[in-house]
Amino acid sequence: MPINVAIDGPAGAGKSTIAKAASKALGFIYVDTGALYRSVAYYAVSRGADPSKAEEVTRLLPEISPELKFIDGVQHVFVNGEDVSDKIRTPRISMGASAVSAIPEVRSFLFDLQKKIAAENNVIMDGRDIGTVVLPNADVKIYLTASAEERASRRHAEIIEKGGCETFASVLADVNQRDYNDMHREIAPLKQAEDAVLCDTTGVDLQSAINMVIGIITEKTGVERS
Ligand code: C5P
Repeated sequence: MPINVAIDGPAGAGKSTIAKAASKALGFIYVDTGALYRSVAYYAVSRGADPSKAEEVTRLLPEISPELKFIDGVQHVFVNGEDVSDKIRTPRISMGASAVSAIPEVRSFLFDLQKKIAAENNVIMDGRDIGTVVLPNADVKIYLTASAEERASRRHAEIIEKGGCETFASVLADVNQRDYNDMHREIAPLKQAEDAVLCDTTGVDLQSAINMVIGIITEKTGVERS
Protein backbone atom coordinates (compact mmCIF):
# COMPACT_ATOMS: atom_id res chain seq x y z
CA MET A 1 0.00 0.00 0.00
CA PRO A 2 1.44 3.37 -0.95
CA ILE A 3 2.09 5.81 1.88
CA ASN A 4 -0.06 8.95 1.73
CA VAL A 5 0.81 12.18 3.50
CA ALA A 6 -1.72 15.04 3.49
CA ILE A 7 -0.58 18.60 4.09
CA ASP A 8 -3.29 21.24 4.28
CA GLY A 9 -3.26 24.87 5.25
CA PRO A 10 -3.95 28.41 4.08
CA ALA A 11 -2.36 30.18 1.11
CA GLY A 12 1.28 31.12 1.58
CA ALA A 13 1.95 28.89 4.60
CA GLY A 14 4.92 27.40 2.76
CA LYS A 15 3.15 24.11 2.00
CA SER A 16 4.59 23.67 -1.47
CA THR A 17 8.20 24.58 -0.60
CA ILE A 18 8.17 22.41 2.51
CA ALA A 19 6.30 19.49 0.89
CA LYS A 20 8.65 19.59 -2.11
CA ALA A 21 11.75 19.44 0.09
CA ALA A 22 10.28 16.70 2.29
CA SER A 23 9.27 14.63 -0.78
CA LYS A 24 12.79 14.87 -2.13
CA ALA A 25 14.31 13.84 1.19
CA LEU A 26 11.95 10.86 1.54
CA GLY A 27 11.73 9.78 -2.13
CA PHE A 28 7.98 10.53 -2.36
CA ILE A 29 6.10 12.20 -5.21
CA TYR A 30 4.97 15.71 -4.38
CA VAL A 31 1.47 16.59 -5.58
CA ASP A 32 0.39 20.22 -5.54
CA THR A 33 -3.40 20.02 -5.84
CA GLY A 34 -3.77 23.82 -5.93
CA ALA A 35 -2.22 23.63 -9.40
CA LEU A 36 -5.26 21.62 -10.56
CA TYR A 37 -7.70 24.31 -9.39
CA ARG A 38 -5.42 26.90 -10.97
CA SER A 39 -5.45 25.01 -14.27
CA VAL A 40 -9.27 25.04 -14.33
CA ALA A 41 -9.24 28.79 -13.60
CA TYR A 42 -6.61 29.32 -16.30
CA TYR A 43 -8.67 27.49 -18.89
CA ALA A 44 -11.85 29.33 -17.90
CA VAL A 45 -10.15 32.73 -18.14
CA SER A 46 -8.51 31.84 -21.46
CA ARG A 47 -11.97 31.00 -22.83
CA GLY A 48 -13.38 34.34 -21.64
CA ALA A 49 -15.41 32.81 -18.78
CA ASP A 50 -15.80 34.43 -15.36
CA PRO A 51 -14.29 32.05 -12.73
CA SER A 52 -16.85 33.18 -10.17
CA LYS A 53 -19.81 32.22 -12.37
CA ALA A 54 -20.52 28.55 -11.71
CA GLU A 55 -22.54 27.96 -14.90
CA GLU A 56 -19.82 29.46 -17.11
CA VAL A 57 -17.10 27.29 -15.55
CA THR A 58 -19.17 24.11 -15.29
CA ARG A 59 -20.08 24.32 -18.97
CA LEU A 60 -16.38 24.19 -19.87
CA LEU A 61 -15.45 21.19 -17.68
CA PRO A 62 -16.09 18.50 -20.34
CA GLU A 63 -13.48 20.11 -22.58
CA ILE A 64 -10.79 20.47 -19.89
CA SER A 65 -8.27 17.71 -19.52
CA PRO A 66 -5.84 18.53 -16.69
CA GLU A 67 -2.86 16.25 -16.22
CA LEU A 68 0.00 16.13 -13.73
CA LYS A 69 3.29 14.84 -15.09
CA PHE A 70 6.35 14.25 -12.97
CA ILE A 71 9.53 15.12 -14.82
CA ASP A 72 12.68 14.41 -12.76
CA GLY A 73 10.48 14.40 -9.68
CA VAL A 74 9.12 17.87 -10.47
CA GLN A 75 5.41 18.32 -11.05
CA HIS A 76 4.32 19.90 -14.33
CA VAL A 77 0.70 20.80 -14.95
CA PHE A 78 -0.73 20.29 -18.41
CA VAL A 79 -4.10 21.44 -19.67
CA ASN A 80 -5.17 19.83 -22.93
CA GLY A 81 -1.55 19.05 -23.69
CA GLU A 82 -0.18 22.55 -22.93
CA ASP A 83 2.34 22.93 -20.08
CA VAL A 84 0.79 25.75 -18.02
CA SER A 85 3.00 25.31 -14.92
CA ASP A 86 4.25 28.92 -15.01
CA LYS A 87 1.18 30.60 -16.48
CA ILE A 88 -1.00 29.56 -13.53
CA ARG A 89 1.12 31.47 -10.99
CA THR A 90 -0.31 34.97 -11.51
CA PRO A 91 -2.40 36.88 -8.92
CA ARG A 92 -5.36 36.81 -11.33
CA ILE A 93 -5.26 33.03 -11.59
CA SER A 94 -4.78 32.73 -7.79
CA MET A 95 -8.06 34.56 -7.23
CA GLY A 96 -9.66 32.65 -10.10
CA ALA A 97 -8.59 29.33 -8.54
CA SER A 98 -10.09 30.38 -5.23
CA ALA A 99 -13.37 31.17 -7.04
CA VAL A 100 -13.59 27.95 -9.10
CA SER A 101 -12.68 25.86 -6.06
CA ALA A 102 -16.02 26.79 -4.45
CA ILE A 103 -17.94 25.17 -7.33
CA PRO A 104 -19.00 21.60 -6.35
CA GLU A 105 -18.76 20.33 -9.94
CA VAL A 106 -15.14 21.50 -10.14
CA ARG A 107 -14.26 19.73 -6.89
CA SER A 108 -15.77 16.42 -7.97
CA PHE A 109 -14.19 16.79 -11.41
CA LEU A 110 -10.71 16.95 -9.79
CA PHE A 111 -11.38 14.43 -7.00
CA ASP A 112 -10.82 11.20 -8.99
CA LEU A 113 -7.54 12.41 -10.46
CA GLN A 114 -6.18 13.17 -6.97
CA LYS A 115 -7.39 9.82 -5.57
CA LYS A 116 -5.82 7.91 -8.45
CA ILE A 117 -2.38 9.48 -8.00
CA ALA A 118 -2.47 8.78 -4.25
CA ALA A 119 -3.56 5.17 -4.79
CA GLU A 120 -0.61 4.49 -7.08
CA ASN A 121 2.27 6.36 -5.44
CA ASN A 122 3.89 7.28 -2.15
CA VAL A 123 2.79 10.91 -2.09
CA ILE A 124 2.93 14.08 -0.13
CA MET A 125 -0.18 15.86 -1.36
CA ASP A 126 -0.81 19.46 -0.44
CA GLY A 127 -4.02 21.45 -0.63
CA ARG A 128 -6.95 22.56 1.51
CA ASP A 129 -9.11 19.45 1.88
CA ILE A 130 -6.65 16.59 1.47
CA GLY A 131 -6.79 15.32 5.06
CA THR A 132 -10.51 16.04 5.45
CA VAL A 133 -12.00 14.96 2.08
CA VAL A 134 -9.60 13.59 -0.54
CA LEU A 135 -7.47 11.29 1.65
CA PRO A 136 -9.37 10.91 4.94
CA ASN A 137 -7.35 7.75 5.66
CA ALA A 138 -3.94 9.31 4.97
CA ASP A 139 -1.09 7.81 7.02
CA VAL A 140 0.01 11.28 8.12
CA LYS A 141 -1.95 14.54 8.21
CA ILE A 142 -0.31 17.88 8.81
CA TYR A 143 -2.00 21.27 9.05
CA LEU A 144 0.60 23.87 8.18
CA THR A 145 -0.07 27.50 8.97
CA ALA A 146 1.51 30.86 9.86
CA SER A 147 0.13 34.32 10.63
CA ALA A 148 -1.49 36.16 7.68
CA GLU A 149 1.13 38.96 7.94
CA GLU A 150 4.01 36.51 7.77
CA ARG A 151 2.47 34.60 4.86
CA ALA A 152 1.85 37.83 2.96
CA SER A 153 5.37 39.03 3.64
CA ARG A 154 6.86 35.77 2.26
CA ARG A 155 4.61 35.99 -0.85
CA HIS A 156 5.52 39.65 -1.33
CA ALA A 157 9.25 38.88 -1.18
CA GLU A 158 8.78 36.15 -3.83
CA ILE A 159 6.88 38.51 -6.13
CA ILE A 160 9.51 41.25 -5.80
CA GLU A 161 12.28 38.72 -6.44
CA LYS A 162 10.56 37.70 -9.68
CA GLY A 163 10.44 41.36 -10.76
CA GLY A 164 6.81 42.02 -9.78
CA CYS A 165 5.72 45.34 -8.31
CA GLU A 166 2.74 44.63 -6.07
CA THR A 167 2.53 46.39 -2.73
CA PHE A 168 2.63 44.49 0.56
CA ALA A 169 -0.84 45.83 1.35
CA SER A 170 -2.35 44.34 -1.80
CA VAL A 171 -0.65 40.96 -1.21
CA LEU A 172 -1.97 40.95 2.39
CA ALA A 173 -5.46 41.84 1.16
CA ASP A 174 -5.30 38.91 -1.33
CA VAL A 175 -4.12 36.50 1.40
CA ASN A 176 -6.95 37.58 3.71
CA GLN A 177 -9.53 37.35 0.93
CA ARG A 178 -8.38 33.85 -0.08
CA ASP A 179 -8.34 32.70 3.57
CA TYR A 180 -11.90 33.93 3.92
CA ASN A 181 -13.04 32.27 0.67
CA ASP A 182 -11.30 28.98 1.47
CA MET A 183 -12.58 28.78 5.05
CA HIS A 184 -16.14 29.87 4.40
CA ARG A 185 -17.14 28.01 1.26
CA GLU A 186 -19.90 25.48 1.68
CA ILE A 187 -18.10 22.55 0.13
CA ALA A 188 -14.83 21.17 1.53
CA PRO A 189 -13.86 24.33 3.44
CA LEU A 190 -10.31 24.69 4.69
CA LYS A 191 -10.07 23.39 8.25
CA GLN A 192 -7.72 21.31 10.32
CA ALA A 193 -8.65 17.60 10.29
CA GLU A 194 -9.24 16.30 13.81
CA ASP A 195 -6.32 13.89 13.50
CA ALA A 196 -3.91 16.35 11.84
CA VAL A 197 -0.72 17.55 13.52
CA LEU A 198 -0.68 21.37 13.73
CA CYS A 199 2.54 23.02 12.51
CA ASP A 200 2.61 26.79 12.97
CA THR A 201 5.65 28.20 11.17
CA THR A 202 5.25 31.82 12.29
CA GLY A 203 8.77 32.96 13.17
CA VAL A 204 10.24 29.57 12.14
CA ASP A 205 12.89 29.57 9.43
CA LEU A 206 12.36 27.45 6.35
CA GLN A 207 14.95 24.75 7.10
CA SER A 208 13.57 24.23 10.60
CA ALA A 209 10.03 23.98 9.20
CA ILE A 210 11.19 21.38 6.64
CA ASN A 211 12.92 19.37 9.39
CA MET A 212 9.82 19.60 11.56
CA VAL A 213 7.63 18.14 8.77
CA ILE A 214 10.13 15.42 7.82
CA GLY A 215 10.37 14.51 11.52
CA ILE A 216 6.59 14.08 11.81
CA ILE A 217 6.46 11.90 8.67
CA THR A 218 9.40 9.65 9.59
CA GLU A 219 8.11 9.21 13.10
CA LYS A 220 4.59 8.24 11.97
CA THR A 221 5.52 6.02 9.00
CA GLY A 222 8.92 4.60 9.84
CA VAL A 223 10.15 5.77 6.41
CA GLU A 224 13.75 6.94 6.44
CA ARG A 225 15.41 9.78 4.54
CA SER A 226 16.59 8.50 1.16
O1 C5P B 1 -2.44 26.12 -3.06
P1 C5P B 1 -2.78 27.19 -4.06
O2 C5P B 1 -2.70 28.57 -3.51
O3 C5P B 1 -2.04 27.04 -5.35
O4 C5P B 1 -4.32 26.91 -4.42
C1 C5P B 1 -5.07 27.77 -5.24
C2 C5P B 1 -6.52 27.77 -4.78
O5 C5P B 1 -7.09 26.49 -5.05
C3 C5P B 1 -6.72 27.99 -3.28
O6 C5P B 1 -6.92 29.34 -2.93
C4 C5P B 1 -7.94 27.17 -2.95
O7 C5P B 1 -9.08 27.96 -3.08
C5 C5P B 1 -7.98 26.12 -4.02
N1 C5P B 1 -7.67 24.79 -3.52
C6 C5P B 1 -8.68 24.03 -2.96
N2 C5P B 1 -8.43 22.76 -2.56
C7 C5P B 1 -7.22 22.22 -2.67
C8 C5P B 1 -6.15 22.98 -3.22
C9 C5P B 1 -6.41 24.28 -3.61
O8 C5P B 1 -9.79 24.51 -2.83
N3 C5P B 1 -7.02 20.96 -2.30
